[in-house]
Amino acid sequence: MTSTKRIAVTGGAGFLGSHLCEKLLDQGHEVLCIDNFFTGSKQNILHLLDNPLFEQIRHDVTFPLYLEVDEIYNLACPASPIHYQFDPVQTTKTSVHGAINMLGLAKRIKAKIFQASTSEVYGDPQIHPQPETYWGHVNPNGIRACYDEGKRCAETLFFDYHRQHNLKIKIARIFNTYGPRMHPNDGRVVSNFIVQALQGEPLTVYGDGSQSRSFCYVDDLIEGFVKFMDTDDDFTGPVNLGNPGEFTILELANKVIELTGSSSDILFEPLPGDDPKQRQPDITLAKEKFDWEPGIKLAAGLKPTIKYFSELLGA
Ligand code: NAD
Ligand code: UDP
Repeated sequence: MTSTKRIAVTGGAGFLGSHLCEKLLDQGHEVLCIDNFFTGSKQNILHLLDNPLFEQIRHDVTFPLYLEVDEIYNLACPASPIHYQFDPVQTTKTSVHGAINMLGLAKRIKAKIFQASTSEVYGDPQIHPQPETYWGHVNPNGIRACYDEGKRCAETLFFDYHRQHNLKIKIARIFNTYGPRMHPNDGRVVSNFIVQALQGEPLTVYGDGSQSRSFCYVDDLIEGFVKFMDTDDDFTGPVNLGNPGEFTILELANKVIELTGSSSDILFEPLPGDDPKQRQPDITLAKEKFDWEPGIKLAAGLKPTIKYFSELLGA
């Protein structure tokens, strides 16, 4: 039985944030959802609004915020390449100024703070699979840099607040995650393919589709968040959270076609700049430290995701 806490979730109206708010409320905590609705939506948290333990604040984390909570999960940041490249300066500001503001708040109120970092800190990795000890291979001035370097700088800030001010920090490096409430137009591969398949349009595979990703279902990931947050204070991470099951993008396209029963074709389009060739988490540390590993296989997670998009699109 966990004791009741007041917990702030920045980016709480987004894909991952809304699932996290739900999970924390289910555990009996008070939840403050902080979001500027850049990529998140009211729709994602509509079902939570009647819960007296849930509160929603429209706020941009690049500006300071004053409130009293026991824990902060800092998720605010657009996550899909289309969205984070739409206004790259704002993306870096969200990661860096957002981290400074949330860390400053955590320091003032002595709250424990979690950072949603990313596998993008490894860039286009030269080591496979990626352990947390790998420092990465990131282009500092390419089109992904606003996101990758912003998240890397946020990690730096978290560790300096920890060393300088004894702040309790938890840094999770999240690998590609999918599930219901992904934005249908955010260009991420799982949502793109499902929407295209349901609408009978060709699935757009960038490059030759031989690049790989490892896809984690959202419920597994959120369980990892809360288990990690509850570890001893001396364990800061960074820790990889993701599903080690690795698939090429072409394999994913064929799987989506099979599971939707679609007659869509595959259309090959040019590969975007700096697109990592492979990505797979080494999750040994998460297993060791908090006994976490994902249990939901790709086909099992794609089914509820397809159902969600099918209802959303009325397909
Ligand atoms: P998302 O775009 O659905 O959610 C991000 C949320 O942050 C949105 O609700 C958005 O409105 C909000 N936001 C953006 N800028 C803000 C600002 N300046 N102030 C306040 N709110 C702001 O993305 P997601 O997939 O839910 O990702 C959540 C977090 O997890 C992000 O930090 C992302 O970098 C990280 N992450 C996600 C994945 C993934 O596969 N989903 C992988 C790695 C890391
Ligand atoms: N991708 C693709 N077709 C799409 C969208 C993405 O082939 O319609 C590819 C993209 O080039 C990348 C992979 O799928 O190699 C994952 O892309 P996503 O944007 O989901 O995540 P990220 O590249 O940030 O891991």
